Amino acid sequence: MIAPKSPYRHRIMIGAPKHSQLEPDYWLPRLDAPASYGTVRGTAACSLAILLLLFTSLPQAQGTTPAIPLMLLSREDRRPVSTIMLNGQELIALDEVATRFQVTVREDTLAGGLTITHRDQTIVISDDQPMASVSGRVVTLPSPAIRLGSRWFVPLELLQRALAPIYDVRIDLRQASRLLVVGDLRVPRVTGRIDSTGPPTRAILEISPAAPVSVTTEADRLLVHVDADALDATLPPDGAGLIEQMRQSDQSTTVAVVLASRAGAARAVPAETDGITRITIEIASAAAPAGVAAASPADAPPAAGEAATPLLTRSRALLQTIVIDPGHGGDDVGVRGGRGTEEKTLTLNVARRLRALIEMRLGIRVILTREDDRTVSLDARTALANNSKADLFLSLHMNGAPAPTVAGAQVSHLRLDREGEDARRAAESDAMPLPVLGGAVRTVDLIRWDLAQARHVEASAMLARILEKDLRAHVIMSDRPRQNIPLRVLTGVDMPAASIEMAYLTNAEQEQLALSETYQNSLAQAMYNAVVSFRAYLEERDTP
Ligand SMILES: [Zn+2]
Repeated sequence: MIAPKSPYRHRIMIGAPKHSQLEPDYWLPRLDAPASYGTVRGTAACSLAILLLLFTSLPQAQGTTPAIPLMLLSREDRRPVSTIMLNGQELIALDEVATRFQVTVREDTLAGGLTITHRDQTIVISDDQPMASVSGRVVTLPSPAIRLGSRWFVPLELLQRALAPIYDVRIDLRQASRLLVVGDLRVPRVTGRIDSTGPPTRAILEISPAAPVSVTTEADRLLVHVDADALDATLPPDGAGLIEQMRQSDQSTTVAVVLASRAGAARAVPAETDGITRITIEIASAAAPAGVAAASPADAPPAAGEAATPLLTRSRALLQTIVIDPGHGGDDVGVRGGRGTEEKTLTLNVARRLRALIEMRLGIRVILTREDDRTVSLDARTALANNSKADLFLSLHMNGAPAPTVAGAQVSHLRLDREGEDARRAAESDAMPLPVLGGAVRTVDLIRWDLAQARHVEASAMLARILEKDLRAHVIMSDRPRQNIPLRVLTGVDMPAASIEMAYLTNAEQEQLALSETYQNSLAQAMYNAVVSFRAYLEERDTP
């Protein structure tokens, strides 16, 4: 298994290298030709001579510490690895390799080479040829192993080219971002550039391979959050036009586009093409006429490239935050299907898909009432929505019925009983104080907390109609597709709200369907379309 040591000493020339990986300045040693090996004695003498030569010819080099330390990134941790720079080459000490990767490193004095052993596999590293033998196969390196004082150093590339194959784990060296990625982490390359200073200033962020992104707008910046473990980012060193700076935020998977003080409306439109997520950023100057960044809201999801739905400062004022409520959770499993599928799992799955769509395409903030499998009371869900000052509340559920044939999706909005009607009339007369959580107790005493929805019945009815229409375009609807019922989770929310029963888990066929990614995506797409339409409705309603 272990490659013979002698070939390194015998520069057997076999013509110009045919191996495309080889640097042109080196000849290929014949590791696979045992017949040509010299005697052990000859080898030892030879290597001694070369070692002496190496020592005497080596400058008293010490190497310098790189300006930015290399970060080792793995599932388990993130820590700096010490390396040195020598003659423009980055080297890592073999003892450091041994510690970080739990491999055995040995100096083979007889051969003058070094070995790294992991389980039953071995790497033989040469000290005079820029290459290593990995379980008998040759890989090239930028330089041979170098001894400095009592330590051996090897080119960093050894990790990726020689250690990774025997280590059974991906080892990815990202020189630009100073990352050494160990294992299967998602570390997309992020490249930013400013295309034109404008105004409007245009910039592009490219993420490769494509990754889900969400954009949030703050007063003086756009934040592009990338769903990844880390970013391998190359961003322009300076800003230009209305962009003060593009930089990786403290949160390591967020890129901040810092706007100049004279910047006006900013929009960021993500689109995915050819496995790359491309975010087009456009910043108008504050003095620009209102029409510059405006575009009409689209009902359909954006196609790749130019047709994407823009973020509008004007629209965001009407629909800034959406709360999605994945029904049930924790001890409360909801409806259970014949194959054991639990409602609580599906509601969370679809909620996550819907959130990704809305955040990525519309840049609207989305809050889930639960991020994982946990019990959340109805009141806590309501309170979260009210305290976040959400503009829209969607509660997701799966249905159940005693008859196994009942099928289809269904939308519900709140029906008011007489008490609710009174509250609505009071609201219309503008006299009703707003119920707030943890706020004025007297307000809560006067007006029942659970009547907050009364102010929004009309908008909620419109929301339900839009949801029904958009769901019908994507999934099978129930015989009673829209219901106007007194639904507890909706009564207390102080914003347009609806509940969606996405399928019947008690119907075997529907249960099977609901488990599929296709169906879950269809549901998310339909509800996303409804959000876009509802935003248009709000805009029209509120336009004087
Ligand atoms: Zn439910």
